[in-house]
Amino acid sequence: MAETLKGLNSLLVHEGEAPDPVSGSVTSPIYQTSTFAFPTNQSMADFMNEQKEGYIYTRLGNPNFTVAEAKIAKLEGAEKALMLSSGMAAVATALMALCGAGDHLIAHADIYGGTFGLLHDLLPRFGVETTFMDLRDPSALRGALRSETKVVYLETPSNPTLRLADIAAIAEIAHRKGLRLIVDNTFATPVNQRPLALGADAVVHSGTKYLNGHSDVIAGAVAGPAEFILACSDVARKLGGTLNAFDAWLLGRGLKTLALRVQKQNENGQAVAEYLEGHPAIAEVLYPGLQSHPQHELAKRQMKGFGGVLSVRLRGGQPAVDRFLDRVQLFGRAVSLGSVESLITQPVAAVHRFVPPEFQGMGGITADLVRIAVGIEDAEDLIRDLGQALA
Ligand SMILES: *Cc1c(COP(=O)(O)O)cnc(C)c1O
Repeated sequence: MAETLKGLNSLLVHEGEAPDPVSGSVTSPIYQTSTFAFPTNQSMADFMNEQKEGYIYTRLGNPNFTVAEAKIAKLEGAEKALMLSSGMAAVATALMALCGAGDHLIAHADIYGGTFGLLHDLLPRFGVETTFMDLRDPSALRGALRSETKVVYLETPSNPTLRLADIAAIAEIAHRKGLRLIVDNTFATPVNQRPLALGADAVVHSGTKYLNGHSDVIAGAVAGPAEFILACSDVARKLGGTLNAFDAWLLGRGLKTLALRVQKQNENGQAVAEYLEGHPAIAEVLYPGLQSHPQHELAKRQMKGFGGVLSVRLRGGQPAVDRFLDRVQLFGRAVSLGSVESLITQPVAAVHRFVPPEFQGMGGITADLVRIAVGIEDAEDLIRDLGQALA
């Protein structure tokens, strides 16, 4: 489908879609079923022998997953994608497909709190150790390599301090040592950054954020070479982190407007960052689209746009943070990001609360930090609201 379509918006609307052969429905029906019937016993046996494409049981696949997977694979320039029940299920599935007891990982210190917990608290119980380090300098990677190192894992831009890692440079070092590079592309989205084209081996996503974009679904995805996605499917069917038909359908619907939404969020992010950079209540604005961002040149090289998330360091300590967050009216005081509505949160209050202090320090996650995730509202309204809350 859609082989002749080249533009991103056309792909997002049409990839994986076809009128329903039974009813002619232009949108795909919701396949709200746990199981699928076969016409003959032999056809079921053939399916089990993997001689046939199709569906048998929703934990192993569902037509609504297929639609979203087709769009995500195309967007990331991947051979295949796999939908999962959350971003965390996607991260865990991808890492378990690559690592086993005795293996070692290297991760960017500045990563999502849930992912940090998986790597720092859970995987060591299964014999997988992680070294956390600042990967802003790609050559630092060499010092952490061990003979058991299997995977380099990073987020760029990182959450919540918007630090960048040079995907191409890190991929080159990793590949020379026979390691795989996995990039969490949740923050950038494939509209702004395509890690596979820069040399990454696989991409993971929290579909909960920009991909779905409406704060009404928890979902995740892995995208990469067919062989790797097959290994992920095998892990997923054993772990059971399956999405469901309705959420996959919502995600497929959300994906149709991804590029339009991200474009607007890029514009809003830039406008809000520029406004706050000049504000006397703000000590520092962290946003890759600003000239003042220490990796602005890398951002321009590896990203097409800079996204809808920025963080600020406030003057005035905790009372100033509380006052600012309590006074905003348009922004929701909520975790998450990438949705149509703007959200604001203090990372140490929630998302990064259980990251131990030494790792918070390594990631630059301090108490004066506030993360702002802009939606698709009008920039003037966002700026007016932030201005009155800071006044
Ligand atoms: C939210 C998030 C995750 C986890 O995704 P869930 O869908 O909440 O499980 C992973 N990585 C990043 C960068 C995120 O923002």
